[in-house]
Amino acid sequence: MAKAQHKEKPENPACRNHSDQEATHRCDNCKKPYCKKCVREQGHDRVFCAECELRVAGFLNLI
Ligand SMILES: [Zn+2]
Ligand SMILES: [Zn+2]
Repeated sequence: MAKAQHKEKPENPACRNHSDQEATHRCDNCKKPYCKKCVREQGHDRVFCAECELRVAGFLNLI
């Protein structure tokens, strides 16, 4: 049995939607990693994933 190779620190985790894409962003709401195609920038360094954007936007619209 070969030992699992001890790699150096892993790079960014993979995007939750694209397993072959490096997650360069993290949703500010659910904290899950996403690639930049999957997040919506909200300005001021805040990003939300599409799911949270819907939720947050829906919530804001209710006010
Ligand atoms: Zn999210
Ligand atoms: Zn993605």
